[in-house]
Amino acid sequence: MTRRLLLALGLILAALLAVPQGASADDKMKVAASFSILGDMVKQVGGDRVDVVTFVGPNGDAHVYEPTPADAKALSESKILFINGLGLEGWMTRLENSSGFKGKVVTASTGVNPRKMVEDEKTITDPHAWQSLANGKIYAANIRDALIAADPAGKATYEANAKKFIDGMTAMEANVKAAVAKMPPERRKIITTHDAFGYFGSAYGMEFIAPEGVSTESEASAQDVAKIITQIKKEHIPAVFLENVTDKRLLERIGAESGARIGGTLYSDALTDEKGAAPSYLDMMRHNVKQLAAALTS
Ligand SMILES: [Zn+2]
Repeated sequence: MTRRLLLALGLILAALLAVPQGASADDKMKVAASFSILGDMVKQVGGDRVDVVTFVGPNGDAHVYEPTPADAKALSESKILFINGLGLEGWMTRLENSSGFKGKVVTASTGVNPRKMVEDEKTITDPHAWQSLANGKIYAANIRDALIAADPAGKATYEANAKKFIDGMTAMEANVKAAVAKMPPERRKIITTHDAFGYFGSAYGMEFIAPEGVSTESEASAQDVAKIITQIKKEHIPAVFLENVTDKRLLERIGAESGARIGGTLYSDALTDEKGAAPSYLDMMRHNVKQLAAALTS
């Protein structure tokens, strides 16, 4: 054998060995998630076995979204569609119908205790259940069970990943409770643009007041804004918080007119990209409680 032939054989061997041992992209189960927070949860539980496409991306508003033809194509190739439910994704039926999706729809919030409220004399459901870590654990368990049902060979992986994720939420829950315990009770009241933190507030003992309702679809009226400014002054509400998914000008105005300080930005309905402060669900919870603690713990 010539030296050149040996070299060629060596290169072929090296190339063969370089093929990763794990599942290749084509072997992975394709699944879809409606928005970034849920997409991260599915990635945490699915790990290397799933390829997750997320429709509403980083800093995007999941209440209002215009699906694209690329979304329809991605959905048609997916085996499972994970949605939040509780009325969050009003645009999803249209996307499902236009994609010809034949897979299974899994509502990640199934089993949470929905928060009901009256808005403009109508009883509505608050969709932001993920803002309580106890609910996050329910989401993770639902995701795990759906992945196992669709891909039984991955059972051990999904169970181990879900356990690790849920353990992380339990640890974060202790952090959040400890941080809130350090805030003076009279300061545990803040303003956000839209009403996205009701589950967080009732789980951890804080009050969130918002000029916009639980959806970003309706704008705050001049009356709502005036009422909140009066309330901030009367109740000495210390801080207003911006959100990554809403226009910050409204809250900046309320802050300026009421004297409440701007406490920072909270991540309510969307994660950031990889370079931002909240690229994952647990990062989001960590960031939010840190911002709240910094503004409210005197
Ligand atoms: Zn929202």
